[in-house]
Amino acid sequence: MTTTERQPIGVIGTGYVGLVTAAGFAELGSQVHCIDIDAAKIEGLKRGEIPIYEPGLDDLVRKHADRLHFSTHLPDALEAAKLLFVAVGTPPTYSGDADLSAVHAVVDAMPASDRHALVMKSTVPCGTGATIQRIFAQQGKGFSYVSCPEFLKEGSAIKDFLAPDRVVIGDEGDWAGDAVQELYSVLDAPILRMDIRSAEMVKLASNAFLATKISFINEIANVCEITGADVLEVARGMGQDDRIGPKFLQAGIGFGGSCFPKDVTALKQLAGNTGYHFQLLNAVIEVNELQKRRVIQKLQKHMGSLVGKKIALLGLAFKPNTDDMREASSLVLSARLIADGAHISAYDPVAEEEARKLISGVEFASSALDAVNGADAVVLVTEWPEFAELDLADVAGRMAGKLLVDGRNFLDQDAAIAAGLTYEGIGRPQRANA
Ligand code: NAD
Repeated sequence: MTTTERQPIGVIGTGYVGLVTAAGFAELGSQVHCIDIDAAKIEGLKRGEIPIYEPGLDDLVRKHADRLHFSTHLPDALEAAKLLFVAVGTPPTYSGDADLSAVHAVVDAMPASDRHALVMKSTVPCGTGATIQRIFAQQGKGFSYVSCPEFLKEGSAIKDFLAPDRVVIGDEGDWAGDAVQELYSVLDAPILRMDIRSAEMVKLASNAFLATKISFINEIANVCEITGADVLEVARGMGQDDRIGPKFLQAGIGFGGSCFPKDVTALKQLAGNTGYHFQLLNAVIEVNELQKRRVIQKLQKHMGSLVGKKIALLGLAFKPNTDDMREASSLVLSARLIADGAHISAYDPVAEEEARKLISGVEFASSALDAVNGADAVVLVTEWPEFAELDLADVAGRMAGKLLVDGRNFLDQDAAIAAGLTYEGIGRPQRANA
């Protein structure tokens, strides 16, 4: 990777996207001036404390400590850089629309300048760029605007930044789009220049398509359970078709995270606001909600009433290699189990701190084996690699009951059955214990 000095940039918002973007551009040779309104976060970052769990991020931030500058003072970034990458949150509102208040706070904070550009990394509805350009024009600010949506995945974010499938740049063909292209040009990735609205839509459509693929295979899994087919074999057969591909064909207990649920709803809402009824996305969302709850039915099928039963949850984060709990399936699952009278013990290798903020009434264990002690049933919620190493005979020996619900089809069914467990996957035929 090049370490030649390159143009300095500003990054506004130092969350998952902002911090990875900052560290990534520092790795490519830029001085990066990071701004956040969260003073405690900025003070921590100055001391080298990384507020999120993302593999490789702390090493990269430490490696480029001399290129990464942290401040709560926007002028620090404006003085040093022309391009200001915006990576503030755009969470859903009650209506399902994206909450753009943080984005607008950034826009409003910009001074008049014709030598700066906002580069939007945050996921925003199609048309947001046009609105911001109109605001800049009304306020006589002269700012340029570029849409540069982010496609990184938590858990592999550094790799995704440095080796993206593509870089999408939506701009008006002015200096700012060229400057953003120049920054990314050292990466071995196709750079797609287009208009701003199309770039905004690429991001929403990509996430909606991936979410659709997940809900599709989950529905296939549910039909497999009725017909006796095995969804793992079905996905293997489907995935070999070039037109389909093997990715996002893993059946499970639903998608979560900070992006898919919010972006699918935002696209549905965006269409609805303009009078178009996006039927397919309604189904994608509904299937996902039902899928999170299917575990309850599986538990009840084997155990009847869950009142007083102890259920161990292995994994809480919305996926492995992250501590992100936003919209995690474990939130719905734990709430439903508690409502049905069950006791929950739970273990997650890194997300416990975040989980404690969102889940109450759960006993947090310090290891997977601690969590399963005395459990009537175990549910694998997140496919953390360490769970594949579990000695299932030891697990079975510690449990009071024998039911294992593998919510991600992650564990070895044969090994579970050999250990004396009753194995329930998602979309897999039930096999009797020997
Ligand atoms: P985040 O919540 O982790 O971080 C947002 C940061 O912005 C916080 O540190 C917050 O303090 C800061 N902030 C808020 N208002 C600010 C302001 N006015 N000025 C300066 N800083 C401010 O969010 P995230 O997960 O990094 O997501 C950011 C955006 O990127 C969202 O639009 C999201 O949809 C999109 N995105 C996220 C991912 C992902 O995997 N997390 C992937 C692709 C795109």
